[in-house]
Amino acid sequence: MRTSIKDAKRIVVKVGTSTLTHENGKINFARLDKLSEVLSDLANEGKEIILVSSGAIGIGAAKMKWTHRPVSVVERQAAAAVGQSELMHLYSKFFGEYGHVVAQILLTSDVFEKPVLRKNVQNSFNKLLSQGIVPIVNENDPVATDEIEGEKSIGDNDTLSALVAKNVHADLLILLSDIDGFYTDNPKVNPDAILIDHVDDLTDDLLNNAKGAISALGTGGMSTKLKAAQIVMQEGIDMVIAHGEHPNVLYKITKGELIGTWFKGKQDE
Ligand code: ADP
Repeated sequence: MRTSIKDAKRIVVKVGTSTLTHENGKINFARLDKLSEVLSDLANEGKEIILVSSGAIGIGAAKMKWTHRPVSVVERQAAAAVGQSELMHLYSKFFGEYGHVVAQILLTSDVFEKPVLRKNVQNSFNKLLSQGIVPIVNENDPVATDEIEGEKSIGDNDTLSALVAKNVHADLLILLSDIDGFYTDNPKVNPDAILIDHVDDLTDDLLNNAKGAISALGTGGMSTKLKAAQIVMQEGIDMVIAHGEHPNVLYKITKGELIGTWFKGKQDE
């Protein structure tokens, strides 16, 4: 049993593109619906839920009937602008069916660097959560060009979700991915890789186990997920990486059951 997770009240859940779309890049409606149902239920249990959702670029490209995957920065920005509103429309519809209101928060890296902006956004999160609303977060892609090209940007939604968890003082961050957790090596390349049940300390050896993504849809692979773990663990926040194929898994994770890999937040000595 993971007791600290069982008591987690404020929970950030991040879903990757591979969880929200089929392999051909089209929206997986059943998955989106189930995710919205389970998160609504957890909110009904009294948890405060923040969802960090990828998927805008893929959904935008599909909506515009582009047959190619957008590659250039400006194409990705345009696709994100179209896809973000479509994504929110779908979440609003699905969460609405389960009696929950959602809110959109789009962030850029300077929000976490400038104290006034950071305070503003913390206030927004706190107010929304106190009203039982589910904030849905993404990087503001059409503005944060760097997100697509690197350098100053947050860069990926694993890191974004960790920065959100840190700044809202969450108790738990859950990353839902296309893999069961963190393995001793990339299992899609090395069939002998073993799932790691829990990590107390992110040693260099463990960090070296994390490789990039192989799938066409994934972005950061395990490296950005471990970077996220580094950010939250030192804030005393627990993190779990688990498979997002069946969003029901969130019930088990939040009950403290042994699902996926648990990165244990540092406790004060
Ligand atoms: P998401 O879209 O959910 O963020 P990614 O595709 O970016 O997911 O990252 C998950 C992928 O990371 C896995 O499918 C796997 O190919 C890769 N990976 C690399 N190293 C590891 C590792 N040590 N353990 C598990 N997965 C790994």
